[in-house]
Amino acid sequence: MKNSLGILGGGQLGMFICQAAKKYNIKTTVLSDNKNFSAKKFCDNFLIGSFSDKKILDEFINSSDFFTIETENIPITVLKLIEKKKKIFPSSNIVKIAQNRLKEKIFLNSIDGVKTAKFKKIQNFCDLESNYKLFGKIGILKSCEMGYDGKGQHLINDKNINKFKNSDLKDYILEEVLDFKKEISVIVCCSKRNTILYPPVENIHKNSILRESIYPAKINNTIKKQALVLAKKIATNLKLQGILAIEMFLMKNDELLINELAPRPHNSGHWSLDFCKYSQFDSLIFSIFKERLTQPKPTNSCKMINVIGKDYKNKNKLSKKYKFYDYLKKEIKELRKMGHYTFKN
Ligand code: ADP
Ligand code: MG
Repeated sequence: MKNSLGILGGGQLGMFICQAAKKYNIKTTVLSDNKNFSAKKFCDNFLIGSFSDKKILDEFINSSDFFTIETENIPITVLKLIEKKKKIFPSSNIVKIAQNRLKEKIFLNSIDGVKTAKFKKIQNFCDLESNYKLFGKIGILKSCEMGYDGKGQHLINDKNINKFKNSDLKDYILEEVLDFKKEISVIVCCSKRNTILYPPVENIHKNSILRESIYPAKINNTIKKQALVLAKKIATNLKLQGILAIEMFLMKNDELLINELAPRPHNSGHWSLDFCKYSQFDSLIFSIFKERLTQPKPTNSCKMINVIGKDYKNKNKLSKKYKFYDYLKKEIKELRKMGHYTFKN
């Protein structure tokens, strides 16, 4: 019987994947490029080194039956090497789309009935200068790859455009700034035989970093259904096996635009650890090791709040009403996600 899982990355998502795997007697091996990683205490084995180190990668490939990722920021060549011998959930083709904002937007808009913000490919300052007002007085410039928690993003207007004159803008995208009503997300998980969906949650960001997720999202039933239909459609088009989070903007006219895809468990799904019979991490494990998935079965309305940067120092002041999860990060950094807590709402 196949019962071992290799995880690329050992941050908090890797940590929760290891904890879920343990419940179902799956042995985990984490490959981490950082020696103090969150999952260290919870994995069965680990390898430390660069994802691109051939020797370490070979050892990693031999360590497990199946593979998964906790970040989309992994060179596709690495995933392809693993795929020569073993299967990764989700596949490298999906990660390739989700790790590049331009590929992602082109893919999403190619699906009938799926839309995103308007966008324009940017390759140099000249492109930016001639296009930054294409969608309004302000545009959002985003690096196509490696961005997360708002990193690599800038609002561009008349006042600051010249600051970018000497920047390397080879691989960027300019997006329309959307005046949305709410942000929501849906997590979809597919096994060989079936698909399950976690109902939409409402996400509150500050400075482009997720602060709170609220289950259930306060949206009407029509929008909820539409969000689930969109998520399923995207998963079907990707031939997803594994888990995928889909961030969406709810516009003032009730239209849903897709923001981005994350081919892994997602921060906005952490509520499921406490308020679902099967969390997003359980479902990921099932999608890899079982033929059929079980419905997540939410148990209560709730909230998840991220503990970011120095707020971590106040973690002991939280009353018993809150369940705190420590990401065991070695040091506090500004805007670093240090932990989260959940509570009934
Ligand atoms: P990240 O990979 O950093 O999460 P996102 O593209 O999701 O990147 O951007 C982070 C946040 O910034 C979003 O959740 C949203 O709050 C805001 N944002 C991103 N793109 C837009 C946009 N086109 N219009 C308005 N707000 C945006
Ligand atoms: Mg995002």
